[in-house]
Amino acid sequence: MTIEKISLFMQQALSEADLAEQNGDVPVGAVIVKSGKIIARGHNKRELTSDTTAHAEIVAIRAACQKLQRWILDDCELYVTLEPCLMCFGAIIQARIANVYFGAYDPKTGACGSVAEMATLKDSELNHHTSIIGGLLEEECAKKLTDFFQKKRCCVKLNKDNREEDKEYGQTEK
Ligand SMILES: [Zn+2]
Repeated sequence: MTIEKISLFMQQALSEADLAEQNGDVPVGAVIVKSGKIIARGHNKRELTSDTTAHAEIVAIRAACQKLQRWILDDCELYVTLEPCLMCFGAIIQARIANVYFGAYDPKTGACGSVAEMATLKDSELNHHTSIIGGLLEEECAKKLTDFFQKKRCCVKLNKDNREEDKEYGQTEK
């Protein structure tokens, strides 16, 4: 896989992240590639579906399994904008995905080096080999997340200010 191709698929994962944001979900997106073609897409849908497990990777893995009508994806690659968490890494191993490429590191829940190094498990405990490369289009992927949380904080502050204003109005009317 050339760096140009990798960047192209990461861009597609970023487009998926935008769809998550449109639903008020944390912008994380993923695509699954087989033989150089995107066969499945997914974006974070936790808020949209009130489903704890609806991370971008899980959504994309489910779509790929549906498409291929099999649960083993050992001829597939996963591209995701954020370092997979423990749950998603578990699903990646279960699906036997060959290669994982991710964008931003997640210092809070990243399972590919940030808070846990699941990759060290794979050779010793798990009978499967997944190669993982992180930090692809890292700045762009991270910026999408920081912008989202910054906007969210601004909204919370605005609402809070409005409420305080309401209270003041109420007091003036007395
Ligand atoms: Zn996850």
